[in-house]
Amino acid sequence: MELKQSVKPLGIKPEILLAVFIASEVYKSFEVDFVITSIADGKHAQHHSLHYSGNAFDIRIRNIPEKPMIDQIFLEIRRRLTKDYQVILEPTHIHIEYQPLF
Ligand SMILES: [Zn+2]
Repeated sequence: MELKQSVKPLGIKPEILLAVFIASEVYKSFEVDFVITSIADGKHAQHHSLHYSGNAFDIRIRNIPEKPMIDQIFLEIRRRLTKDYQVILEPTHIHIEYQPLF
């Protein structure tokens, strides 16, 4: 597991840390390096508040060699998390946020 140098983890929520562990295990099972590219930093037009409150993070996908493998990793992460997590496949990364549905 690795953090991009620009990542600011300040205020990361335990619920997100749990999802980091689980997503990391999925990447490991596919033998792909797990690089977090954003937590509470950067510009997030769509998911602004959840990143800044430590309730979201992004994972690099450009190091995944094949498009079908990106889809498999994305689906496996989504399968292992609960419905309180939203896992979104963006053009450059996988975005995961925690937003419980009451
Ligand atoms: Zn994001």
